[in-house]
Amino acid sequence: MIPVLGLAGARVAVLGLGRSGLSAARALAEGGAVPICWDDNPDAQESAEAEGFALLDLKKQGAFDDIARLIVSPGIPHLYPTPNPVVAAALAAGVPVDNDIGLFFQSFATQEWNNFDTSPRVIAVTGSNGKSTTCALIHHIMEFANRPSQLAGNIGRGVLDIDPAIDGEVVVLELSSYQTDLARSLTPDVAVFTNLTPDHLDRHAGMGGYFAAKRRLFAEGGPDRAIIGVDEPEGLYLANQLSEGAADDRVMRVSGATKLTGPGWNVFAKKGFLSETRKGRQAASIDLRKIAGLPGAHNHQNACAAYCAARAVGIAPKVIEAAFHTFAGLPHRSQTIADAGGVRYVNDSKATNVDSAAKALAAFKNIRWICGGLQKEGGLDAVNAASGTVKKAYVIGREAAQFAMQLSVEAQVCTTMAEAVASAMAEAEDGDVVLLAPATASFDQYDSFERRGEDFIAEVTARL
Ligand code: ADP
Repeated sequence: MIPVLGLAGARVAVLGLGRSGLSAARALAEGGAVPICWDDNPDAQESAEAEGFALLDLKKQGAFDDIARLIVSPGIPHLYPTPNPVVAAALAAGVPVDNDIGLFFQSFATQEWNNFDTSPRVIAVTGSNGKSTTCALIHHIMEFANRPSQLAGNIGRGVLDIDPAIDGEVVVLELSSYQTDLARSLTPDVAVFTNLTPDHLDRHAGMGGYFAAKRRLFAEGGPDRAIIGVDEPEGLYLANQLSEGAADDRVMRVSGATKLTGPGWNVFAKKGFLSETRKGRQAASIDLRKIAGLPGAHNHQNACAAYCAARAVGIAPKVIEAAFHTFAGLPHRSQTIADAGGVRYVNDSKATNVDSAAKALAAFKNIRWICGGLQKEGGLDAVNAASGTVKKAYVIGREAAQFAMQLSVEAQVCTTMAEAVASAMAEAEDGDVVLLAPATASFDQYDSFERRGEDFIAEVTARL
């Protein structure tokens, strides 16, 4: 645990008592603060009480009279579409609003570090897609290179749950736009921006607010090294704003699609090859095509971002290349679950928006595509544009018929995973890929994208 520094003796309100809220309350108490907890859900209240935390309905008049700060969980809207009433009360009372990420950055570095040979470093990753894969890959490279490393944030443990750093440690943090928007302290040593496509727009009042939330990761503390995916205008703009000029190598530019020729520090993937160039010269090259854990151009973009992060903390290209070959990939992201009778079965349940599903469609050929679920705003144009690799769609979800009508490929309305898998398997031919890449949230039929992926795996394995 990382005890929270700088708030000893203060009463700190904690709103939302899920994983991150409870861990914030513990870390606050460990650092000598007095957490005052609230969640509208009685079960969550009970868990906090069971740990001995004080509960107070923060909606009550005067609740913020003697409160030094309010810590808010990421699922709770702090501004858009409308602020949660408790957050609104804190704003009205002038109480600083923060989250566990802010507490982490305020508390991570300690006096003890003065005795270390190599200062611990924090690598923080944000972006619309590829964050988890990039983080897991960076962590894997660190472990492969025998650097102590911990993985936290949206992936792995809560940020305040990790162990205090040891000499030379690298902490890899996955941060969502909700988290970067609110944190009062954001000071990673290395910050990564993978890419930007529309998502969570209701929580940020549109694309501008969404970009602004991610941009804070670079603008607040000024990381030593900024690794920026420049395949979208926002990334190009951010790289431009953060650098003094094209040769400024505090910014590493990444592309998953285009050769980068500038005089700065560039890493790009083209036709399956990763290239690193610096001062106009090629510094390293890696053939990514044979790396089983990183299929498709989108994963090549992730590989480039992770490569940069590893280079930024001094890992040699050859070591990174060897680590790539031993990366198993993450469950539910381009995860090959079986190869049977000439057919490959791939679980990409994490493709919860159209852009990530389009990337999955671009990564394979001869696809029998299982898609559908709780559709997000913005329509299906992006997946339709990428569906040239699809032989047929098998549509699941409560609104399967509605979804199927919007597709530009032949589509069968299946509704359930069992029927979709049975039909796709019955029709699959040698060389086909049965791919779950829903392009939707899962909540109409499942608790989470993980449950949806597990159901797919179970339905496939039961029939093999
Ligand atoms: P995140 O943590 O940002 O949601 P993940 O690594 O969990 O990212 O991947 C989420 C989904 O996005 C995966 O299902 C995959 O299909 C897709 N994806 C992964 N990397 C990228 C990328 N670089 N660009 C676009 N889509 C991607």
